[in-house]
Amino acid sequence: MGALFASMLVATALHLAGCTAGESGDNTFSLLSAGKTANKEGAFVLMDTYVSYSLTAGSQQKADDVCLKITEVGDRLENEILSRHVAGSEISFLNEPSADGTKKGISDKLSDYIDSCLTLSRISGGAFDISLGALSDLWGIEEAVKNEGTDYFPPSDEDIQAALEKTGYDKIRSAGSKIALPEGMILDMGAVGKGIFLDEAGKMTKDIKYGIIAAGGSIRTIGYKPGGDPWIIGIKDPTGQSGTIDSVELTGDYVISTSGSYERYVEKDGVRYHHIFDPATGYPAESGLSSVTVVMDAEYGNGLLSDALSTAIFVLGKEKGLELASEYDAGVILVTDDGEIIRSGLN
Ligand code: AMP
Ligand code: MG
Repeated sequence: MGALFASMLVATALHLAGCTAGESGDNTFSLLSAGKTANKEGAFVLMDTYVSYSLTAGSQQKADDVCLKITEVGDRLENEILSRHVAGSEISFLNEPSADGTKKGISDKLSDYIDSCLTLSRISGGAFDISLGALSDLWGIEEAVKNEGTDYFPPSDEDIQAALEKTGYDKIRSAGSKIALPEGMILDMGAVGKGIFLDEAGKMTKDIKYGIIAAGGSIRTIGYKPGGDPWIIGIKDPTGQSGTIDSVELTGDYVISTSGSYERYVEKDGVRYHHIFDPATGYPAESGLSSVTVVMDAEYGNGLLSDALSTAIFVLGKEKGLELASEYDAGVILVTDDGEIIRSGLN
């Protein structure tokens, strides 16, 4: 991936410039000691997962301020906009049945997020689809995970076909910031919530020199590690047998998203049912992949995009997934059900 390689080169060049400026000691340390820094680490719960962060700024006050801002931005996103489980959020408002089918007004932000999702739905041939809420509810995987699989029964094929009737991104009618869903349709932003959070949090981090924010399977890097080393993002072994099976080294501002069938699933009578659905069948996607990691430059909007792409590629499988990744100049690491690791667009 050209862009990734270019930024790594830029980072190296800056690093060397720091040394030739006459600072003493070992390269990496001298760069950091050139300015006063303060680090802030912490974690909070967001969208049913943990957000953990490590952020280094020029002063403790700046580091503290950024942490407060990213916590607040996450809270607002979940409760005021994205969660379909919070009454009063914009998505809940959209999901409420409307008697006459008239369009409802939503914020420009949500309108932009939905537009980006619909564009990816079209480009991925429908593999990515935020209109699958009725299907997610029917399968109830999240609920089953919370109950540790107790008394879980997969839905009948008849019920799956009936839920599928209530899905379909191409049935959503929108004009500007007004939108109408067909009867029974439920929007589910679960595939992009963490990526959107990273985009919004990223707008608050101009005072951060080096940092990392990890929201469930989505991560944003800023610069490099305090100390000068690249960030190393481990790729989890989908089988759980070993901790990590691969890694990606990043220096610069990136977003990384992973979708995996091992993340949320329930087993019944020896069959695993996971949380990523194939909109064409209504069943958990079986594309031969068990994990998909997408790496992109952290430009505005790429948190959403990398999060959505990892889900889309998981559904599409290896060949079509690699094509889609290259259309977006995204780096990917795919792990197949047989344990093969495929890297593309990364150094
Ligand atoms: P992720 O872990 O980012 O791949 O997102 C998975 C979540 O996205 C699921 O828990 C569902 O809420 C939702 N989802 C499942 N299948 C799809 C799909 N094909 N397109 C969009 N969202 C999906
Ligand atoms: Mg995703």
